[in-house]
Amino acid sequence: MRSYDNSVDAYKEAVDLLPGGVNSPVRAFKSVGMNPIFMSKGKGSKITDIDGNEYIDYVLSWGPLILGHADDRVVEKLKEVTENGTSFGAPTLMENKLAQLVIDRVPSIEMVRMVNSGTEATMSALRLARGYTGRDKILKFEGNYHGHGDSLLIKAGSGVATLGLPDSPGVPASIAQNTITVPYNDLESVRYAFQEYGDDLAAVIVEPVSGNMGVVPPVGDFLQELRGITEENGTLLIFDEVMTGFRVGYQCAQGHFGVTPDLTCLGKVIGGGLPVGAYGGKREIMERIAPVGDIYQAGTLSGNPLAMTAGYETLNALDESSYVDMNKKVDRLIEGFQAAAKEFEIALQVNRAGSMVGFFFNEEPVINYETAKNSNVEFFAAYYREMAEQGIFLPPSQFEGLFLSTAHSDEDIEKTIEAARHAFSKLK
Ligand code: PMP
Repeated sequence: MRSYDNSVDAYKEAVDLLPGGVNSPVRAFKSVGMNPIFMSKGKGSKITDIDGNEYIDYVLSWGPLILGHADDRVVEKLKEVTENGTSFGAPTLMENKLAQLVIDRVPSIEMVRMVNSGTEATMSALRLARGYTGRDKILKFEGNYHGHGDSLLIKAGSGVATLGLPDSPGVPASIAQNTITVPYNDLESVRYAFQEYGDDLAAVIVEPVSGNMGVVPPVGDFLQELRGITEENGTLLIFDEVMTGFRVGYQCAQGHFGVTPDLTCLGKVIGGGLPVGAYGGKREIMERIAPVGDIYQAGTLSGNPLAMTAGYETLNALDESSYVDMNKKVDRLIEGFQAAAKEFEIALQVNRAGSMVGFFFNEEPVINYETAKNSNVEFFAAYYREMAEQGIFLPPSQFEGLFLSTAHSDEDIEKTIEAARHAFSKLK
């Protein structure tokens, strides 16, 4: 058995200092019945905890580390940049470089504004959409998570789903009433909402592949239809690509599915493990933001040199073949899991988009939050603990997807499949 003594002690100390001992709820490992594991270092596909246990990491800081931990190219540049000062509050050349790269790679983005997190990106994009259209209401999907902005913390996914807190106290009713929610992948409900509220809807915000109720890809022409409906109604379509951006494909989910939104929110991979978010889109809309326009949004540390460098070096290290390679490894991982599930008669549903994967212990296909919720969370928790014991670090919730990096090797994948076989054989 692995020892977690140091993590247990650290957690005891932390619970007196931080609410729940953590700075973000899902890190508490509550739904898998484990003490939080405190980490000390990472390199490539591996992460090591403060008891010296090593794991193959499929959390990757919840998505950002697409090159794996402490990639040499990123680390070298960060050292260089840090020597010259960490923040200036004045423009730097690296902001132009990262902006140009994002504009070149993301089909919908003609102009971009850098912020510090995914939450800031979605909050700011909503303000822009409301200011631009002069409308107040927005439409979001159940089980989609867009950060913790008041307007968006309604029937949200991620930790909110894991902890079963669909509507947070502290969000004023006057704000919540402007957020309309409908089931994901349900065009009929979208059309109905537009019949009711069409003239008041500033934006539809959607995860083009939902990654916060486990992984749930769009079914059929869901995204294409959303594009059509929003266009007809003068409503902006916002893709929240905080998770899918530079993850699902070289040109993000919008390139992968061939649907171009009006605005796009980015986070995670764009910062390569440092705090970055961004929102961008059509020039005409983006030029409504201050100081050119009248819609205000600002940030002391926005465009920070370290963060821009980590983002730029990370994106610059990726080309189309990086995605082909990662996808092949994901194919093999899925094939191995499916074979193991079949062998031990475990009900397993697999959803996948590029290197985002959702393994659901569920009898039925998972296409929205309703079906995701039917997953066997007790089985997941037991499986989770078995996998951790064998050195596989997974997101500690059935309602989160797992990620691969370019640093994951074929050997990592085979070890992970073997661990799953062992876990299934023990738990069946
Ligand atoms: N949008 C999506 C799709 C996300 O997955 C997340 C975070 N998991 C966010 C927004 C919020 O980003 P952050 O945690 O950086 O504020």
